[in-house]
Amino acid sequence: TTGALLAQMLVEPLGLILRWYDELQVAQVALARLVGVQEIEPGAGDEKVRPDGRDVAADRVRFGYTAGADVLHEVSLAVRPGTRVALVGPSGAGKSTLGRLLAGIYAPREGSVTLGGAELSRMPTERVRRHVALVNQEHHVFVGSLRDNLLLARTGAGDEELWAALAAVDADGWARSLAEGLDTEVGSGGLALTPAQAQQVALARLVLADPHTLVLDEATSLLDPRAARHLERSLGKVLQGRTVVAIAHRLHTAHDADVIAVAEDGRISELGSHDELVAAGGAYAALWRSWHR
Ligand code: ADP
Ligand code: MG
Repeated sequence: TTGALLAQMLVEPLGLILRWYDELQVAQVALARLVGVQEIEPGAGDEKVRPDGRDVAADRVRFGYTAGADVLHEVSLAVRPGTRVALVGPSGAGKSTLGRLLAGIYAPREGSVTLGGAELSRMPTERVRRHVALVNQEHHVFVGSLRDNLLLARTGAGDEELWAALAAVDADGWARSLAEGLDTEVGSGGLALTPAQAQQVALARLVLADPHTLVLDEATSLLDPRAARHLERSLGKVLQGRTVVAIAHRLHTAHDADVIAVAEDGRISELGSHDELVAAGGAYAALWRSWHR
């Protein structure tokens, strides 16, 4: 299933390289702030701006992290509710950047990103987060109890809901074995969760937040194969019934998506199903052939 394939992408053992890369990105983000990239601030937005529907769409989006250096040029992409869209293309093409814009982390410099016709950058951030979530390799465990970590996703949820969310991602087993249960302190100073457990807590938060659309960026971690398979199953369940934009490094994670968008040099160069793109004989077809020789 697509879910399982997407999940494989989440557990690619590239952790070390990506950790280093993450640090680089943190530095880049700090730099981007200095030069004034339009990051959407929590608390901003107009209470009156509400989505009318679940379509997420980028329309002629231009975006850059630094003035005068655009990373996305006139990118348009429509994501129909209930579909799976795979975003493929070479490293540096702008896939992660587009993912951040589709999830309302950044606002376009020109053009628009809309949810149900309403611009994400004009909506209150908390409202956007209820509809669209970005899932990536940054699975933060915060200092506090396990309960605190889960309540971040839905303030006011009862313990029963929290346990249901943990069960939904197959984390109730280890969580129930904790002497202090949901009161167990985690994060620095508390119980050190394994990488797999930390990812499950992040997935449980996702279940609680219950966004209809997920942008899945290639998340990786240093998991043993058994933990990886376990997590893959949990992720597959979380993806069910949701619209998914999956940023895929590997072609086999893309090939059964409803729509494949090929990003090259900050543009979408090809758009269609696997069969359509193979028949079109362009860049995707060439990539696919080279993988299947
Ligand atoms: P992809 O995900 O396709 O590999 P990215 O969206 O990560 O591509 O990167 C597109 C371009 O934007 C690259 O030139 C990259 O160096 C730059 N870039 C990515 N993230 C940042 C950032 N946080 N700050 C500054 N530049 C960035
Ligand atoms: Mg990327």
